[in-house]
Amino acid sequence: MKYYSLNNYLQDTFGEKVYKIALDGGFTCPNRDGMLGTGGCIFCSGAGSGEFAGKREDSITVQIEKGKELLRDKVKSGKYIAYFQAFTNTYAPAERLRKLYEEAISHPDIAALSIATRPDCLPGEVLSLLGEMNRVKPVWVELGLQTIHERTAEYIRRGYPLALYDEAVKKLKEIGVQVIVHVILGLPGESAEEIKETVAYVGKSGADGIKLQLLHVMRGTDLEKDYRAGKFRVMEMEEYANLVADCIALLPERMVIHRMTGDGAKRGLIAPAWSGDKKRVLNALRKAIEEKRRIPYEMEGI
Ligand code: SF4
Repeated sequence: MKYYSLNNYLQDTFGEKVYKIALDGGFTCPNRDGMLGTGGCIFCSGAGSGEFAGKREDSITVQIEKGKELLRDKVKSGKYIAYFQAFTNTYAPAERLRKLYEEAISHPDIAALSIATRPDCLPGEVLSLLGEMNRVKPVWVELGLQTIHERTAEYIRRGYPLALYDEAVKKLKEIGVQVIVHVILGLPGESAEEIKETVAYVGKSGADGIKLQLLHVMRGTDLEKDYRAGKFRVMEMEEYANLVADCIALLPERMVIHRMTGDGAKRGLIAPAWSGDKKRVLNALRKAIEEKRRIPYEMEGI
């Protein structure tokens, strides 16, 4: 059994590997601005998962140019995906979103837009805008689901019920955009079986792609407090690699695996320390996946 890696998908879609440039559009999120709460999700660093994004004070064009410069040695094609990564990237009036998305999509080196958001931040006018953008260049929408289990969702302060996720996937598929779902493996209190239930659910939900992310305990988060208080443990590397291999087996063969590790900044990482050694992690993943006889198309860049 094979799985469909991001590299493979990029090759099939664009004819070559295309790199993401992470952008900061100056957003906040309803879990931080007081709409739903002020503390944020329990695992979320103050950067709103945008540690690698450009600087919000720069225009989108400047962020793209700076991102290109950083990738200069890697990129041969000159094509990039504009990744609106930091905080909730549909959480603003549609006119402001239009300005930002149009600036990115009209850049000649941008081949697609990828927009990270929450299922409860997709009102009708935003969906119409995303559909419109998708007719110009491909649009991916990345939804932070993390878990299907309400008990955990409450603990992490996700702030929306599972039914909203299902509704969002349906609406996004109706406008023809690619849906990618973020799931966190190793959330406190969840068994391996429960994690697999989440992954299987995403596989059947109509989404096109998935990001499997290891739980990172980051400095300054409320999760760090619970970790230091001994309320949960983080996964060992082999345990994580085996779980990823099991999760992949639960997914439809054409579902794109966008990520198999976390992408937290090393600087603020409290645990697990092994996750900072990307080479070792990739080797463990390769071994676990091959042992389960799922031959990857390629492992590079996951
Ligand atoms: S993870 Fe996303 S939704 Fe949660 S607090 Fe951070 S930016 Fe907001």
